[in-house]
Amino acid sequence: MDENDQAPSELETLTLALLHSRGEVERLREREQLVSSLLAGLNAVLWAFDWEQQRVVYVSPAYEQIFGRSAALVLADYGEWLNSIYPDDMEYAAQSLQSVLEVGSVEHREYRIIRGDGEVRWLSDKCFISPPNLFGGQQLIVGIAEDITEKKALQNELHRLATSDVLTGASNRRHFFECADDLFAEARTHGRPLSFLLLDIDDFKKINDGHGHQMGDRVLQRVAHCAAYVLRRDDLFGRIGGEEFAAIFPNCDAEQARQVAERLQREVQRLQFSDEGENFGVTISQGITVLGGGDELDDLYNRADAAMYQAKRQGKDCIVLG
Ligand code: GH3
Ligand code: MG
Ligand code: MG
Repeated sequence: MDENDQAPSELETLTLALLHSRGEVERLREREQLVSSLLAGLNAVLWAFDWEQQRVVYVSPAYEQIFGRSAALVLADYGEWLNSIYPDDMEYAAQSLQSVLEVGSVEHREYRIIRGDGEVRWLSDKCFISPPNLFGGQQLIVGIAEDITEKKALQNELHRLATSDVLTGASNRRHFFECADDLFAEARTHGRPLSFLLLDIDDFKKINDGHGHQMGDRVLQRVAHCAAYVLRRDDLFGRIGGEEFAAIFPNCDAEQARQVAERLQREVQRLQFSDEGENFGVTISQGITVLGGGDELDDLYNRADAAMYQAKRQGKDCIVLG
């Protein structure tokens, strides 16, 4: 038998195994570096949470950049993660995380965090239960939290543009009547009162003709500001025509609606405009009505419209209950 054909000694076998495992370690290290650099480039945090131990067991490198906080601290103490959640969203964040255990995954979870530097950011956090064969059989909740602050701001801006009147900031006609339908249905379902108001600026054409269209626009804006100042948070206010506005007062009877209309009347009477040394004011005519049994929304609109025209016939600058 040739010397070279001898079976490898134990030492040689061990050396070969060592070289092989070194290669494996090297390959694993390269793969880990690749995954780490991919994760670092993501504008999202991958995280893993051990529900039983209430411990964050992993956050990807983007955590420090998105949360503006130390990854070591959050890995040491789950309280650090809880501290970063915006207080108003805390209950929702906790409940939705718990529901992952019940339903297996939660796709749409949005909440705000407060970064280490105090800045508030919006996150979209998809999470699910890890497959049972991973992490040594330990059941973890894993998730990917993406910073959607800019996307959210854009969505809000698009919504604002689609629903409001550009000149006055009031709801536009379409949005007003969509919301009016909902408020009407709610009042009907719960048997609650509801009042409807129509408002038209008096002699607006004269303002446009005498002081120019731009001054007319200014008057429209100031009247809308008066309404925004007088109306309550739950009231709905919209520009439904050129110089015609409408409001809905949920849970408001005729007397309460009249009080709001009177306050609005006074606020508008107080407005002062000046054009090349000439000062002038503006007045409005208002028609109000309240929801009655058997009414549809159109009936309310028609009665308020008739009341408003009655106010015009009575000499303008007044309120008529129809
Ligand atoms: P009344 O007291 O009976 O309500 O008379 P009025 O002059 O206010 O009513 P009229 O309906 O005749 O005039 C409304 C005017 O509103 C006509 C239109 O040119 C003007 N208008 C409509 N939209 C705008 C706008 O966005 N800006 C300006 N400046 N004017 C507008
Ligand atoms: Mg008018
Ligand atoms: Mg009009």
